[in-house]
Amino acid sequence: MSAAPESAAAPSIAVIEWLREEIAGDVVTADSADYDTARRVYSGTADLRPVVVVRPATAADVQAVVGAARDSGLELAVRGGGHSAAGHGTTEGGIALDLSALKDIDIDPVARVARVGAGLTAGEFVRAAGKHGLATGFGDTESVGIGGITVGGGLGLLSRKYGMTIDALLGAELVTADGQLLTVDAEHHPDLFWAIRGGGSNFGVITRFTFRLSPVDRVVGGLLVLPAEPAVLAGFLELAGAAPDELTTIVAVMPCPPLPFVPPQFHGQPVLLAQLVFVGDQGPAEEALAPFRALAEPLADLIKAQPYPALFPPEEMPRVTAVTRTQFLDSVDASAAATIISAIADSPAPMRLLQLRVLGGQISRVAPDATAFGFRDKKVVTYLGGFYAGEENRAATTAWADELVAALDQGDSDAYANFVGEPGQAEVGNCYPPATLQRLGRIKQQYDPTNLFRRNHNIAPFDQEPAVG
Ligand SMILES: Cc1cc2nc3c(=O)[nH]c(=O)nc-3n(C[C@H](O)[C@H](O)[C@H](O)COP(=O)(O)OP(=O)(O)OC[C@H]3O[C@@H](n4cnc5c(N)ncnc54)[C@H](O)[C@@H]3O)c2cc1C
Repeated sequence: MSAAPESAAAPSIAVIEWLREEIAGDVVTADSADYDTARRVYSGTADLRPVVVVRPATAADVQAVVGAARDSGLELAVRGGGHSAAGHGTTEGGIALDLSALKDIDIDPVARVARVGAGLTAGEFVRAAGKHGLATGFGDTESVGIGGITVGGGLGLLSRKYGMTIDALLGAELVTADGQLLTVDAEHHPDLFWAIRGGGSNFGVITRFTFRLSPVDRVVGGLLVLPAEPAVLAGFLELAGAAPDELTTIVAVMPCPPLPFVPPQFHGQPVLLAQLVFVGDQGPAEEALAPFRALAEPLADLIKAQPYPALFPPEEMPRVTAVTRTQFLDSVDASAAATIISAIADSPAPMRLLQLRVLGGQISRVAPDATAFGFRDKKVVTYLGGFYAGEENRAATTAWADELVAALDQGDSDAYANFVGEPGQAEVGNCYPPATLQRLGRIKQQYDPTNLFRRNHNIAPFDQEPAVG
């Protein structure tokens, strides 16, 4: 491989030519037929035009792209599934490194270990592992990339039973800013292994992950739709916190979509759309689920025994314009529940939701300093989304979101990195306890002192100011 070009005059042209020579994978530029598809990410506000989108076919390709970015000075955006609400998977005028072609899957069902390419989506992983009656928890959405969700922590439908995604991470292969391909695990570069479990994409490009698999064949789970009443919401969250570890819940307060199985008079009205997943047999599942069903007459009850992958039906990645916010809450009483329901009922955003996830269980049994996700004792995490159409509606949606956040504020400014949306919305510092942040800064200084990996929730190298966005 020849050295990456350092052309000062026309860095992008020289870099594109060099990449076309060196890369086995796709090199997509503005004149390519699929440029608009290749630059597309989840965030509709990140309508950016990279000078080149590269889809590496191998780890060596990734090393080449990292070298090209480093030597040319072009901004590097690393993309897994493209779901970053801040649009971190793309860049204006830089190099977008799209890992989606790295989809190798090697599952050892006896050792219960999966070695997989970093370009898989959650759904692709879940389906492959599901063939063996095994699973790793990756959130609730099929099209989210395993790359982004893992480095940010990973809260999903199995979290109270098996912990966060990072708790199942056994190792990774990672390309550093200086172009080395490192094996990173408990024995090799343990500092880096600690940092990539919650510290985001600040430390390198992960080309392959190794995950522990757990026995999850059929689950008892699905959708439960309940009326949006304050006592029902508060009761739901209280039950979710007291439930056995086998049961994980996610409840969204939102206008009811036109679901054929919900009576039409509720369509467009606020409802509680809850996903409940019990890992275990039908008998104990029914026992754990009964109190939720007794909260109110369900508007729909689709909970049943089914294969875990059935909860991840294939989908196209949507593209949305949204204002997003996140908070940790200690508890939600009937008064807070009433505030939430009336804010969802009365919003300038045509589509909006407040999702509440009760944590605890196995998430809380991991020591706060064992990984770079340090908030193991939090009770409830929220994700607020106001989905608007047209830039002229953004300001009103932002004001609405901020008003609801202020109304729910319980004095906790900490934040879950994967749910932090827009640059500047929450300081990166809020995503980590102070000691964790300091340690991350020192590891960043060691592995990426020039902050090559800065298109992310940026952790500055020790003693430097973070990059914005
Ligand atoms: C619809 C939706 C549902 C969601 N549900 C959940 C959920 O249930 N639980 C949860 O915890 N989170 C959830 N999230 C948040 C999600 O985890 C984050 O947005 C995550 O960053 C998305 O990862 P991605 O690979 O798809 O995104 P990308 O935009 O591709 O990447 C996000 C960040 O991760 C970095 N990155 C991605 N892959 C790699 C890699 N291989 N090496 C180094 N850096 C990498 C990118 O550089 C970027 O900074 C959801 C988000 C959306 C939009």
